[in-house]
Amino acid sequence: MNGVKIFDSIRNIEITINNHKEEIEKLDQEIGDGDHIFNILRGLQELLNLKDKLVDETSDQIFKQLGMKIMTTVGGSSGALFATLLIGMSKKFNPELNDLNNLSEMFYEGVESMKKRGKSDIGEKTMLDVLIPVSKTLINLKDESNISKVAEKIIIVAKDGMLSTKDIIATKGRASFLGERAKGHIDPGARSSQLAIEAICNQFINN
Ligand code: ADP
Ligand code: MG
Repeated sequence: MNGVKIFDSIRNIEITINNHKEEIEKLDQEIGDGDHIFNILRGLQELLNLKDKLVDETSDQIFKQLGMKIMTTVGGSSGALFATLLIGMSKKFNPELNDLNNLSEMFYEGVESMKKRGKSDIGEKTMLDVLIPVSKTLINLKDESNISKVAEKIIIVAKDGMLSTKDIIATKGRASFLGERAKGHIDPGARSSQLAIEAICNQFINN
């Protein structure tokens, strides 16, 4: 893990999210207020703008600075939550561990911080329906030596989590105001999170 790899991953996430712009916008128009895609793309652009400044710093410093940038520039629930994820991840960074071990521990910690921040958990029709199962699977697979195998498994877990948001009601976020009417719609944050995870996993499968 280093600055170049971190910023390459952010760039890949940005490309994937951009390719699904209309779809994500529509999802948030259906059960939210429509700004989710704007918040996400704005955040990703802000992060990419920091590349020259941060690329040579240590990974924990990079995650922390990226989180703080999101916190101060991106609105909506997703801004605060993704900022919390990145800052949480930075706290668990341990250069003694191999990348998969390190990333698994960091991501688990980041998702735990998000749960606290959002006062939310699995099954509430949010991005956590993707992020929690992914974080748990990563911990279970952290000593696996075949990285493509891990990436392929994570892609499936993320997709299942995203699809699981479709037929449930929301108990957190704006979609909770809709009650039963939210059923039949995939959560926009779950979709954007799943796409971001898939973009990162594909880097390891294609390598
Ligand atoms: P806002 O809802 O403030 O307009 P966004 O549109 O950027 O913010 O993000 C909406 C997404 O945020 C939802 O689709 C959901 O996945 C996620 N979300 C909202 N509230 C919470 C929460 N308390 N915990 C976890 N995720 C949440
Ligand atoms: Mg919104």
